[in-house]
Amino acid sequence: MKAVFDERQWKHDPQNFMANGQSLRNPEQPERIRILHEGAKRAGAEFIAPEDHGSGPIAAVHSPEYLTFLENIYTRWKRIEGSSDEVIPNIHPDNRGANYPKSAVGQAGYHQADTACPIAEGTWEASYWSAQTALSAADLILQGEKEAYALCRPPGHHAFADLAGGFCFLNNSAIAADYLLQKGLKPAILDVDVHHGNGTQGIFYQRSDVLTVSLHADPDRFYPFFWGGAQERGEGLGEGYNLNIPLPRGTGDDEYLEQLKPALARIQSFGATVLVVALGLDSHENDPLQGLSITTPGFARLGKAIAKPNLPTLLVQEGGYLSEDLGHNIENFLTGFESK
Ligand code: ZN
Repeated sequence: MKAVFDERQWKHDPQNFMANGQSLRNPEQPERIRILHEGAKRAGAEFIAPEDHGSGPIAAVHSPEYLTFLENIYTRWKRIEGSSDEVIPNIHPDNRGANYPKSAVGQAGYHQADTACPIAEGTWEASYWSAQTALSAADLILQGEKEAYALCRPPGHHAFADLAGGFCFLNNSAIAADYLLQKGLKPAILDVDVHHGNGTQGIFYQRSDVLTVSLHADPDRFYPFFWGGAQERGEGLGEGYNLNIPLPRGTGDDEYLEQLKPALARIQSFGATVLVVALGLDSHENDPLQGLSITTPGFARLGKAIAKPNLPTLLVQEGGYLSEDLGHNIENFLTGFESK
């Protein structure tokens, strides 16, 4: 399988993360790259570097003020006397009003949904090349590859049009899907990360041209908490074009694969001509974030099941955090996908 990766993604190295009121080391560590890269190579992935598509395809999904914020906020933040090494907001307005503040602190609150997406010196560059990685993998599909893997990091599916959150800044899967749409394909996004793909849902919620489907741990008791219920089906033109399948905490392989069936059936009835998989591996039983209980052999089964509809498929890396099993999980998923 052809694959895309860019070394500049190492430049984002978030330190802070709040869990249960404690400040801990951020789980979205650059070391993930090495493990995912090696695991994918064991599965036969052949990596190339991405091309630069510029900011056009990114700006098709994200707002101009948000992109300006991401690119410049670190420099502005460092001008504040006594500021921390990472941009972390101390205010999160629950319902943003009409006033777009000029202050760096105010804008951080406006554009960062939680404390899990600290911004430091290399964040913009890493995020930009993470998005370009997804776009170049989309190009491989457009050039006739049946499948391609984008080793994107930082991940993207919690990023809304103008809001970072949950380790995510630019929504790589959404950017790639919109790009494939512009090139004349009909994309469906299947999000199998343990967390609901709330940013992706938000971006396409009022649209019928991109179908969004997410299987995830039930948000009643799991991040992102405020999105991901089965009743969220899209709005206006988008009504019926968003499908959420929340699963009980601890769901294992057999039940997960059963619940995947209606997701794949919906993608088929939509008439998708290309599938974008938001490929989180954090549904694994030993993932530190502990939501579902997919086993390492289970990822091979999942890969095989997702490959079965035989659509051109772009696999975009989302979550999956440091454990002994992470490398084996990507290896198994890709091997299972290719064994279809
Ligand atoms: Zn996740």
